[in-house]
Amino acid sequence: AAGRVRTGDKSDRATVEQAIDPRTRMVLFKMLNRGVFGEIHGCISTGKEANVYHATGGSGPYPDLAIKVYKTSVLVFKDRDRYVTGDFRFRAGYCRSNPRKMVKLWAEKEMRNLSRLRAAGIRAPQPLLLRMHVLVMEFVGEGSVAAPRLKDANLPLQRMCSAYREMVAILRTLYQRCRLVHADLSEYNILVHQNELVIIDVSQAVDLDHPKALDFLREDTRHINDFFRRAGVAVLTGRELFDYVVDASITPDNEDEALAALQQLAESRPLARNAEEEVEEAVFAQSFIPRRLEEVAHYERDREALAAGKKVEGLYYQAITGMAQDLSGPRLEPMALQQRREKQK
Ligand code: ADP
Ligand code: MG
Repeated sequence: AAGRVRTGDKSDRATVEQAIDPRTRMVLFKMLNRGVFGEIHGCISTGKEANVYHATGGSGPYPDLAIKVYKTSVLVFKDRDRYVTGDFRFRAGYCRSNPRKMVKLWAEKEMRNLSRLRAAGIRAPQPLLLRMHVLVMEFVGEGSVAAPRLKDANLPLQRMCSAYREMVAILRTLYQRCRLVHADLSEYNILVHQNELVIIDVSQAVDLDHPKALDFLREDTRHINDFFRRAGVAVLTGRELFDYVVDASITPDNEDEALAALQQLAESRPLARNAEEEVEEAVFAQSFIPRRLEEVAHYERDREALAAGKKVEGLYYQAITGMAQDLSGPRLEPMALQQRREKQK
């Protein structure tokens, strides 16, 4: 009946949307009958795209469960289009006009991406069961109390500093090992559980082949930097963080050293950014970053200018294309380590 209620009133419509629709009810009912859970305890979160419920009493190894139910309302999917367009995993079976198929795909994508994170050693809830647009996963929390989001966790400054380092490493692992960009990473989608960071909400995460992957990555790095800077952590610049994540000259052998060198650099700067640094951040946030040298319009000109000792504005493609910072040849070592070596000379 809820689906048939017609009203022009916004508040009324909101209540209607919160109610569990018949299809979802049927999925949950079947799960209940199969002993997936004993009862649904309550709603942890009602978001724009999904509701998350806490359930208990399952016959499996997890006493507490989180159940994420994706919403089928069409309005939501307009927003999501930018994530789907271009993702090769959506080439077959993607149907913009059928919201029920779409939500099913979101749930499926969340499950697969959670597994990909976990396989790379990133903490994320274990996905347990997927039926249509309903995903059952491990409940992150103590007893029946859900873990706080990083935003609400009130970590002391020292823990904030180490959490920042961990997030930088997680961003890199996501990119290099999972071959994913989260695309909605912020203090809202990181939980703090037993003093560890847990990454959630990965249904919109995109493969590196996605045409907008680098734009999403730059947004993710900006959200992470902004949050930790506001908390008083000496953060990297947007570009330093972006380059650290994508740089192929950084390897498992030197990644800790490279990050330590970058951090030293960050700590040597005053916490508040000056006007010039603000402008640099803003320009970096909006620039086109080519992924391959073929996409670079004036490579020769850039290289010659750098060789002549000129400062070239808006040159951001060295790390992503695997070129040395001065474009003289391939990138043989991370920028931070090269800088440190040159300083020590
Ligand atoms: P949305 O797309 O609505 O943002 P999320 O996956 O971020 O969906 O979940 C919304 C909220 O539900 C999260 O901010 C978190 O507080 C809670 N939550 C999600 N998954 C879990 C989980 N596995 N365990 C505990 N809480 C969770
Ligand atoms: Mg979220």
